[in-house]
Parts: sequence; C-alpha cells; structure tokens
Amino acid sequence: MEGGGDDIQALITLMARLPGLGPRSARRIVLSLIRRRDTQMVQLAQLLDRVAVNSRECLSCGNVTDRDICPICADPARATGEICVVEDVADLWALERGRAFRGRYHVLGGTLSALDEIGPEDLGIPRLISRIHEDGVTEVILALNATVDGQTTAHYIADALEGSEVAVTGLAQGVPIGGELDYLDDGTISAALRARRRL
Ligand code: ZN
Repeated sequence: MEGGGDDIQALITLMARLPGLGPRSARRIVLSLIRRRDTQMVQLAQLLDRVAVNSRECLSCGNVTDRDICPICADPARATGEICVVEDVADLWALERGRAFRGRYHVLGGTLSALDEIGPEDLGIPRLISRIHEDGVTEVILALNATVDGQTTAHYIADALEGSEVAVTGLAQGVPIGGELDYLDDGTISAALRARRRL
C-alpha cells in the first residue's frame, strides 16, 4: 500500500491498466477526482455504474450503445442506402468522428479466420446480407483491414452480393483500419472515404 489507503491504491492500480494511462497519470487522475468529489467524481461513479449495467451491442449494427437500437440506426436521416462494414467498434467511432459518412454501419467484431475457426455466422455476415436486401441498400463500403484475413472477409462479402444491384466499394488504399482508424486525423478519414473505389 502507498500513502492513500487500500481502496485508493486499488483505484490507482485499476486506472493504471487503462489504455493510454500508466501509474503516474493514474495517481494524478485519482487525486484530481478526490479533490473534485462533488463536481466530477460522484458523476463519474454514477455514469460508470449506469454504463456497466446498460451498455450492449446494437441489435441492428453491432455498435456499442446504451439502448437496443443505437442512435445511428434509429436516425431516419441516415437511411441513405449506404452501409459501411467495419471490423471493430473503434473504427465506427473514428468514422463518426470524421463526420464524412452519413449512412449506417455493420460491425463484424473480427475477420474470417480458418486458423481461429471464425466463420461467417460468428461475424453476423448472414444477418448483414439479409439486412442489405431488406433495407434497400445500394452501396456497401468494406472498410476492412489490409491483412490476409481482412481481405478474405471482404471477398467473401463481395461474393455473397454478386449478381445483386448492390455496389461494393472499399476505402482508398494505404489507410490503416481494424481498430486503427482512430489514430488518423479526421481529414484523412474523410479523404479515404471520398476516394473509395469499386471492388
Ligand atoms: Zn446500430
């Protein structure tokens, strides 16, 4: 135990394991929170509690949300006929931050992998294909990683849509994706979306 007592030390240890933080920033945060108990700490504790109880996957797209259907899927203005397929929720949030895409999403939660025995069912691909046909989707943008598994997944989805009226496109090459879109600035994300090409 360091100076603050068991619970305070446990809080610092947990915080230090969060992405982007370490022991030093964890100590600063905990001290700052305690000094702002009424204005920040109580509110943070209540929000953590609520999000822990309520956060779930959107039943339609797989986004992480605090309701059954996420605000993007529920927004009628976003029924543009475009669906952007991403591997990870972090990619969806990065694309949203760029404000370049006004359609809807499908989060796979991974890629097809023979090695790890991840098949189309595990990624909700059959559900995606029926959603595409039912919702009158005209363009599917595959924002998937340039890895072998990412490209295998892209080809699988493109093949499943062959012979339909749906246009299948991909982001401009050279864009890191698969949880890494978040490291790009908003302008680069928007440019990659604008420069998408037909697969
Ligand atoms: Zn959704």
